[in-house]
Amino acid sequence: MIFKTLLTSAAVSLAVASYAQAAVQDGTFEGTANGKNGPVTVAVTIKAGKITNVKVVKSGESAMIGDAAIARIPSEIVARQSLRVNNVAGATLSSMAIQAAATNAVKAAGGTPNEFYKAPIKKSASNIDISYKTAVVVVGSGASGMAAAVRSQLNGNPTILIEKMPYLGGDTILNAGTLIATGSRYQRDVMKETKDSPELAYKDIMHVGKNRNDPVLVKMVTEKAGSVVDWLIDDLKIPYGPAATQYPDHSASRQLGVTGRSPNFIRTMARIFTDHGGKILMETRATSLIYKGGRVNGVQAVNADGDKITINAKETILASGGFGAKTEMLPKTLKGYLFYGLDSDAGQGYEMARKLGAQNINMDLVKVYPQGVETVPNHGLAATASSTATVNDTGAIYVNSQGKRIINERASLGELTDITVAQPDKIMYLVMDKTGYDRYLAKSIEDKLVPDETVLRKWLAIKNNGKPVMVESDNLAEAAKVMGINPEGLEATVKQWNEMASAGKDTQFNRKDPKELIKAPYYIVEQKPRFATTLGGLKANANMQILGKGGKPIPGLFGAGCVVGGANGADSMTAMMNSWAIISGVDAADGATAAIKKSRK
Ligand SMILES: Cc1cc2nc3c(=O)[nH]c(=O)nc-3n(C[C@H](O)[C@H](O)[C@H](O)COP(=O)(O)OP(=O)(O)OC[C@H]3O[C@@H](n4cnc5c(N)ncnc54)[C@H](O)[C@@H]3O)c2cc1C
Repeated sequence: MIFKTLLTSAAVSLAVASYAQAAVQDGTFEGTANGKNGPVTVAVTIKAGKITNVKVVKSGESAMIGDAAIARIPSEIVARQSLRVNNVAGATLSSMAIQAAATNAVKAAGGTPNEFYKAPIKKSASNIDISYKTAVVVVGSGASGMAAAVRSQLNGNPTILIEKMPYLGGDTILNAGTLIATGSRYQRDVMKETKDSPELAYKDIMHVGKNRNDPVLVKMVTEKAGSVVDWLIDDLKIPYGPAATQYPDHSASRQLGVTGRSPNFIRTMARIFTDHGGKILMETRATSLIYKGGRVNGVQAVNADGDKITINAKETILASGGFGAKTEMLPKTLKGYLFYGLDSDAGQGYEMARKLGAQNINMDLVKVYPQGVETVPNHGLAATASSTATVNDTGAIYVNSQGKRIINERASLGELTDITVAQPDKIMYLVMDKTGYDRYLAKSIEDKLVPDETVLRKWLAIKNNGKPVMVESDNLAEAAKVMGINPEGLEATVKQWNEMASAGKDTQFNRKDPKELIKAPYYIVEQKPRFATTLGGLKANANMQILGKGGKPIPGLFGAGCVVGGANGADSMTAMMNSWAIISGVDAADGATAAIKKSRK
């Protein structure tokens, strides 16, 4: 039998413990607390005053990241008989929610959480030295690392993949899992697309990348895409189908999507890898490359227990992702732009290779989007779906800090980005009435930007540089003043907008079907430029060998995915970041295999 449920926020529940003693009853009790994406419900079984089982029965936490907390926190609570255990790195909110929900379950059992609080264990380094010998070591388990590891293992090379986080997949698990199919059997036979070619894809990529691309890498990725897609679909049976939307930045029908998005790709590839004898070392962070005799011979790493790990390998593939979370490595021009990627994007692989003299390319380029909301200093939410639905379906408008409209609100994301960064303070504002706010809220919940309205309303109290990220007021001028927008300017703009809307024509920017902004209260939400993906990185040749001094390959060292720069130039087409990661991963594994074969001769 399962008993009653309590709901509180994770932080509040952990902080406020009851000190009165009470007898905890035997049975299974449920408790709920808010996690990153909404309520998490946990069932706790108690027998004779002891916690004998903890199970997460309901959760909408992010695939893979939240899964790591769900796999670890319940068993640690039982093992330590403590409702306070160490959070899982990278999954703090999910970890806290599980502990808070379990605390609520204990309260529902009539117990006092204090009976079950022990100070978390501080781990001390065990200082054991562990060493491995392998043909290939891959650093990082995102799309590029997984593709490289599976390909390398199936090419016949015993392969070890190391991942520093407690979950697999890196930034990749946040993406849609789309992939270009140029030149594949699937594109010809199933998508019935015959006009595509590596040359056409090359042209598209260079155009969107504003010709800042490394042509060598663009040629490789467009020529290799077909065989990689055939391998994934025909040999590995990865469940790809035509993507639901064929975005118009591609001039042929060439976008595939994987069932279950990228988390399913990563899980399936990890299973194939280990089923074929590949070895994965989790929570194992590469710290340096082993360089002896003029070549890289593997990596030095450290694991979560503090053990020193030495992996001696004939070939090393860096697939360690980008550097968006490492502010010092970012160009100064990005000041004020919000980062919405993962903290694991720390540029460590890049720095290890640079110590050996590796060359770099395009370090000033990142992929920028509009409509970020700075909910944590310098970090933001990607509120594009919410803002877009609101300007599409209601009379909401974008203005600058003068209170002036600056664009047709239904412009492309690229145009919205350009106009945002063209403002002296690099901010636009979304101005909504109550109808707009209701749409913004509904879309934000649907898109999992916020779990419920309480969390959205918390934005009213989040201040950066003295200004809130969102304001609500019955008085438009008052709302403008609080937000740092010129109040007279905004009043004049809204008056003009309402006149155009009632006349049915936007004479300023020709937006179709303009609607009035008249139903108080009014809401204003900041719209800042945001980025997650870095476009620059190490320089590589067509075999994904990392180039060192004089443009010569550093023997024993390959790269794949975001750690290598240049393939996507100044901007990437839809699906191209994920495509680059997978195709370059396969190419690096093939390059490493060829190097191993050559060394045997
Ligand atoms: C929110 C979001 C949405 C996106 N949506 C799309 C999309 O729809 N389409 C698209 O094409 N692209 C998208 N992208 C970009 C795309 O996901 C990335 O470009 C791609 O996943 C990069 O793959 P990767 O393998 O290079 O890096 P990652 O997937 O980030 O993997 C790198 C891995 O290396 C590990 N690592 C780092 N350093 C070390 C170390 N020292 N030791 C051991 N391990 C290490 C990291 O923990 C990580 O797991 C999106 C990105 C984000 C953040």
